[in-house]
Formats: sequence, structure tokens, C-alpha cells
Amino acid sequence: MSKNTQCVHSGSIADGLTGGLNSPIFTSSSFRYVDMAENVYPRYFNTPNQTAVSDKLRALENTEAGLLFSSGMAAISAVVFGLASGGDHVVMQRDIYGGTHHFATAEFERFGIEFTFVGSEVKEFEKALRDNTRLVYIETPSNPLLRVTDIAAVAQLAASKGICTAIDNTFASPINQNPHELGIDVVIHSGTKYLGGHSDICCGAVLTTRDIMERIKASAVNFGGSLNAVTCYLLERSLKTLGIRVDTQNRNAMALARHLHGHPRITTVYYPGLETHPGFEIASKQMRGFGGMLSFELDESKIPPDRFVRNLKLITPALSLGGVETIVCAPALTSHVKVSAEDRRQMGISDGLFRLSVGIEDTDDLVADLDQALYG
Ligand SMILES: *Cc1c(COP(=O)(O)O)cnc(C)c1O
Repeated sequence: MSKNTQCVHSGSIADGLTGGLNSPIFTSSSFRYVDMAENVYPRYFNTPNQTAVSDKLRALENTEAGLLFSSGMAAISAVVFGLASGGDHVVMQRDIYGGTHHFATAEFERFGIEFTFVGSEVKEFEKALRDNTRLVYIETPSNPLLRVTDIAAVAQLAASKGICTAIDNTFASPINQNPHELGIDVVIHSGTKYLGGHSDICCGAVLTTRDIMERIKASAVNFGGSLNAVTCYLLERSLKTLGIRVDTQNRNAMALARHLHGHPRITTVYYPGLETHPGFEIASKQMRGFGGMLSFELDESKIPPDRFVRNLKLITPALSLGGVETIVCAPALTSHVKVSAEDRRQMGISDGLFRLSVGIEDTDDLVADLDQALYG
């Protein structure tokens, strides 16, 4: 089945009682155990609504197993703590979601997990590998500078040494990029973003092989970050339109990137779909669409960042991303506020940098709002 068909049909629960077209919501947290194949319980990740959605995501990412979590960070922490123990070493891309960066610096040491941050070039990953490296963790396109990592090359390098690989695929969504098909073991999503898509739910997902999932699940049931039935249902409802939402977001983002590139009040545009972007060639190889995220730097001598934000009428300055509405944020004040100023500088995140999460509005309205704010 193709992506849009999977979005609509995969994993749905047939409603034998009424013949209704939608999966019923099963709210029980207590299930009979006599004559049941397994004990069912929400924190065991095996209730009907959890399974329905993880089956749909499994189809979309083409993996054997899937697990839903109560947030993206619950998914990320379950993967790291499921696959690495005290004394192990993790190699992590430096240019990643601020929360993941903070998770590593704040928690790994307490659990005895060593780690090394590296740039997105494959040779940097290679240099950082040690005898006790158990996990290589990447994010592409990355947050917030849309750097592109060569997924197949990192997967091949790690596999040649028997090391597990994980990717945060949130920015691309399963519509634009399927890393498991390129050799990555574990695919992670913050479902709060494109999968949910309407800025109204918080959830996460892990997609991988049956064997690796067993290890992740074994510790995930102890950490307890499972997802409730009602949010599972909202996620299932959202996923039916994932394909058409992301296609529109891809088109809008490309149009805005072209408009802002060379704009008299913008110094730099970061979008992997621009031929001038350093990751364009690799992105073209591993992505079907370039995504709805782009970043740009204002010419602060012509328009102060604060005035630009206050001038916007349609585009809202807001946290998070991936919704149907276009929002803008300054990473230095939001997603990366917990990263030290020193680390931010090293990551290339200036105070005049803005990240745009492009929605599904009409392109012309978005262009007009950006222009009036840049000149106002
Ligand atoms: C938001 C985000 C996360 C964390 O997800 P939560 O649902 O907020 O826990 C992880 N990775 C990326 C790329 C994100 O954008």
C-alpha cells in the first residue's frame, strides 16, 4: 500500500458491534486475564488503541514493531535506557533537538553512560566510536539549522561494528523519509509534532525490529511512559491526513524558502530543498520531500528581531512545530533555552535566528505576512 492509503487504513480496529467506520475507543485499564493470550494493561503498551496506532506507524515506517509513548522525550529516553547501560558509550549528533541535548548532559552521567557529541559528517562519527560504544544517535534534518546527515552512510558504519543506530525522524515525518529502509535500527518520533499535526496532543513513538523492541520495551514498562486510549484515538484520527498535510507543508516551505532566499532583509536561509544548502544532495537522495521546517537569519541592522515578531499578524510566535498553522520561534529563547550560551554559539544558533514551522495555509497569505513584518 502507498503512504496515503496506509495513513487512512492501516491498523484500524473493525467495529463489529455497530459497523461504524472508526476505531472504537477502549478506555479500560483493567482487562480479564483468564483464557487471554497475554495480560493486557496500558503500561504494558498492549491495549487495543495503542496497538491500532502503533500498527499504522509500523506500516508507515516499514518496521516489524512499534510502541507509543506519552511524549517524544519518553520515547527517546526509553530507547537510550533500553539500549545503553552504565559503562556503555553513546555517540550523539551535536546539532539536535534541545531537549535531547539536555537529556544527555543532565542524565547520562548519573546513570554511568558515557557520551560524545559529534558534527553531522560521517567521519566524525567514525572518529568518536569506542570499544564500548553501544548506540549511535542522529537527527536529520536537524533542529534548528536543518543540517543533513547521510543516513545510509552512518547506518553502514555502525552496522559494520555491530553498533545499534537510532534516529529522531520527527522533522521529516514518515511521509518524507523512512530511515529503517536505509539501514537505521530504531526510528523515533515526537508525535506531538507532525504525527499529531494539530498542536493539541503530546505523544511519541518508537519503530524498530522485533528483537530490538523487546529490549526497549523491557525497560520502558519500568519507566512507565505509555499513552492513554483517548490520545491514541486522537493520534489515529490525525494520522489519516498526515500525507496530505505534509505534502502541502513541503510545497509551502519550498515556496517560502525561495522567497526568503536573497530577500533584502534576510541574511541566510536554511532549507534542505534549496540547491545552495550544503545538505541538498544528500537530502535529495534520502528524502521524498524536504519538509515543512526552515530557518532564517534576519539582517538585524535593518529589522530588529523583536520588532519582526511583533509585526507578524497571521504567523504566530509559538513553541513546538508540525501543526496545520504556521508558527515562528527564536530557538535561543525557546527550544534551545536550556542549552548554555557557549554551546549555542558552538551549534551556530544566533539570537537573530528564527525557525519557521510552515502550516497548510495558502502560500500567498504567508508570503504577504512575512513581507509586511519584515518591512513594518
Ligand atoms: C519536540 C521534539 C522532541 C521532544 O518531543 P516531546 O513530545 O516534546 O517530548 C524530540 N525531538 C524533536 C526533533 C522535537 O521537535
